[in-house]
Formats: sequence, C-alpha cells, structure tokens
Amino acid sequence: MEKLAVIVPCYNEEAVIEESYRRTMAVLERLSNPVEIIYINDGSVDRTRFLLDDIAAKDSRVKVIHFSRNFGHQPAVTAGINNCDADLAVIIDADMQDPPELIPDLLALRARENANVVYCVRNSREGESFFKLFTSKMFYRVMNYMSEVQFPLDTGDFRLIDRKVMNEFNRFKERGKYIRGLISWVGFSQVPFYYEREARIAGETKYPLSKMLKFASTAMLYFSKKPLRLATSLGFISVVVGIILAVWFTLGKIYGFSNAEVGWTSIMTSIIFFGGVQLLTVGVLGQYVGILFDEIKARPEYIIDEKKNFS
Ligand code: UDP
Ligand code: MG
Repeated sequence: MEKLAVIVPCYNEEAVIEESYRRTMAVLERLSNPVEIIYINDGSVDRTRFLLDDIAAKDSRVKVIHFSRNFGHQPAVTAGINNCDADLAVIIDADMQDPPELIPDLLALRARENANVVYCVRNSREGESFFKLFTSKMFYRVMNYMSEVQFPLDTGDFRLIDRKVMNEFNRFKERGKYIRGLISWVGFSQVPFYYEREARIAGETKYPLSKMLKFASTAMLYFSKKPLRLATSLGFISVVVGIILAVWFTLGKIYGFSNAEVGWTSIMTSIIFFGGVQLLTVGVLGQYVGILFDEIKARPEYIIDEKKNFS
C-alpha cells in the first residue's frame, strides 16, 4: 500500500496547529494507507514550535522540521518535499483554508485518472479581502501571458503529487522556487480538482503585501524573460519616436510647416519620458542581475535547526 505524507508549512500558526492536526489526522486515520504528517516550522516566534514538539512526542506519525529562522513559505514546502520518503504527498496550508477532508477525494481522483499530480483549483475563496482576490486573479493571468509555459489558473500549492514528481522536483537546483509553477513544468499526467476554498479558521494571514510582492516577482523572474523583451521594445519605440520627431522638426524648420517652439515644456517632457524609459529598463536588467547574483552565491534555501521523528 502506498504511503501518504501530508506536508504542512507553518509560520506563527499557534492559533490553528492543534485543530489542524486533529482534523488532518482524523481524515488520514480513515485511509488504509500508511500515513504521516510533516510539519515545517518556518522560524515561528510564537508557541508553534512548542505545540508541534508536543504533538510529535505523542504521535510518531508526525514529523517536524524546525528552521533556524523564517525562510518563507516556498522554502518550507521545498524542505517538506526534500525530506519526504512517502510515495504520495499532499501539500496543504496549516490554516485549514484547504480542507483536509478533501484528501480522500484527491486520492480517488488520482487512482481513477492514473495521474501523477492532482492540482486543486479554487472555485471560490471565502474570507479574503477584495484586494487579495483581485491581485491574485490578476497575477495568475499576467503570469500566463508572461511565461513560456502555461499554468492552470487560480491554483495554489494545495495538491497531491507522487514519487515520480517529487524525485524530479528534488533535482531542481534553483533557489528561488515558484513551486506551483515548477510542478506544472515537470509535466507527466496532471489533473485538476475543483473545490471551494474556505476562510482561515483562526489567526491572520502570514502573507503581508511585502511577501506577496516577493512571491510574485520570484515567479515572474524565474519563469519569464518577457520583461527583458518588453524593455527592449520600449527602448525601440522610444528611438523610433525620437527619430520621427527629429526629422519632422528639421524638415519643418527648413520648409516652414512646423512652428515648433524652442521651449521648456517639450524639453522637460522628453527628458522625463526618456529618463523614465532608461530607469525602467535598467531596473528590469537589475532584477535579473540580482537573481543571477543570488543563484551564483548558491546559498542553501533553508537551514534546519532540528528534526523530530525522522529515523
Ligand atoms: N507560511 C510559512 N512561512 C511564511 C509565510 C507563510 O510557512 O513566511 C505558511 C503559513 O503558515 C500557511 C501557509 O504558508 O500554512 C500559507 O500562508 P497564509 O495562510 O498566511 O497565506 P494566505 O492563505 O493568506 O495567502
Ligand atoms: Mg491561508
């Protein structure tokens, strides 16, 4: 029988950990598969560490990885996959927005379709701000426009993956990981599962705007070179406009059909416009140089402080 692991990243989740464990284990116990839960404590500064250690001490099916500090959601999920030896894994959030009660349905769908990945698509999202819903909708659509690969829309990291996919995932050397993108990039047989995403059971989001922006820029920079092409196009358009204006005004001066004033307004406008174009393109270039710098340093993606119940 295939072993199933549930991978749960946790950052300051003291308000939900116990409930999350209870609900998830209740679901897993009804399965005939051998099961385990891998919690990754992403450098929480609340009681998350204590609560997880307590659960792991009482239940040997619960494995815990403590990071040395907060590395972020994607590194936490990466550590979960890297340290998973099960045949199947479900990636799920600690806050129960993705109901663990759906796990048997994911397994059934996988068996029926003989799939390697079952990715969960959100039909609706409860308890999220208008801003979050709007930016997230926009993000997935812009990503598809920018990227060379097509991604399923409105899909988070909540998904079921099998050993084949995990083995391929473990070969990825890049440190900036956009996990949902990488998993669809891997290929094999992937099927959608539609569900209603619920509200957080307690606590608040651990994804403030700063983390959302970092997440979106990693996704964009690692999956698309289009920003560079856009920068080139912008430069190209500016040059063409510049040439047309120069020719127009010169001929106008000679033949007297243009009475262009020698003036402050036109000069300022063009300086600001071309200054902006230059800063923008240099900025885009800088972003790519920045990630090259990070990748060349080749620092580890996360540092583990302690592991519990791993043999
Ligand atoms: N998370 C994490 N590290 C972080 C931020 C978040 O491990 O730096 C975890 C968090 O504990 C949760 C999951 O990632 O299990 C998703 O975060 P959250 O629910 O706060 O995001 P939202 O659902 O609001 O987008
Ligand atoms: Mg959440």
